[in-house]
Amino acid sequence: MRVVRTVAELRDLVRAAERPVGLVPTMGFFHEGHLELMRRAREASATVVVSLFVNPTQFAAGEDLGSYPRDEGRDTQMAEAEGVDVLFAPSVEEVYPYGFATTIDVGAVATGMCADHRPGHFQGVATVVAKLFNMVQPDIAYFGQKDAQQAVVIQRMVRDLDMPVTVEVCPIVREDDGLAMSSRNHYLDAESRARAGALHRALRAAEGVVAAGTRDAATVLRAARGELEAAGIEPEYLELRSAEDLSPVDRVNGSTLLAVAARVGKARLIDNTVMKGVS
Ligand code: AMP
Repeated sequence: MRVVRTVAELRDLVRAAERPVGLVPTMGFFHEGHLELMRRAREASATVVVSLFVNPTQFAAGEDLGSYPRDEGRDTQMAEAEGVDVLFAPSVEEVYPYGFATTIDVGAVATGMCADHRPGHFQGVATVVAKLFNMVQPDIAYFGQKDAQQAVVIQRMVRDLDMPVTVEVCPIVREDDGLAMSSRNHYLDAESRARAGALHRALRAAEGVVAAGTRDAATVLRAARGELEAAGIEPEYLELRSAEDLSPVDRVNGSTLLAVAARVGKARLIDNTVMKGVS
């Protein structure tokens, strides 16, 4: 595996690489969720590029940019063990040289939900992913369903800007008790870690009432909220949206996303499920 830090080195490698090229964009501190994306990329691509970049522009003021967990040595070993060909780990200056000024704003899907609590977050994500696509020029790029709104934002951007890349969205990888894996789980102390399982229980409770025939959004949300309240968790948001375009829904119908975000201890956690409530 080659570890490269500049766009020029990366371009040289990719130019000579066998296609298809698969890209897995990450902020590092790898867990099984990241490794699953790498495995999927490895299966489908002749060349696998993983980017490791804690992107400052997607953190709002006062967020955890400074304390975001980092361990490049461990990440390098883990990526190598998954058969990754190139680990692209640029500096902030390499990605945002002096005078950098362009921002991508994908519109409605980048408003509401996480955007209400993380101003500028999706502009930062869309811009850095567009840059990574231009740097790597991948045939396929892999994202996790864990960041459901992010996945919709990227798909919208790729369609709107005719980017020649196929976006693969991969299922959420969970801990044994259902907690969605996240680098930020590292912030949880034992007490918060135990409470964090309530996010997953809330999603399961909602799925349960939908499976029993309920379609009304308020009733489904009440079931989920009950699990959060039992764990003393007040969500930042708990919402039902169309899974395709994130438009609000008042009934579970077709492909419906139930998404939650909450602060638990020192961590801000997100989770979601897509329910097929065809009635
Ligand atoms: P991050 O390093 O947190 O920015 O995540 C990099 C990629 O991994 C994103 O596309 C995430 O959606 C994805 N990812 C993170 N956690 C998980 C998980 N538990 N299951 C599936 N994908 C994940």
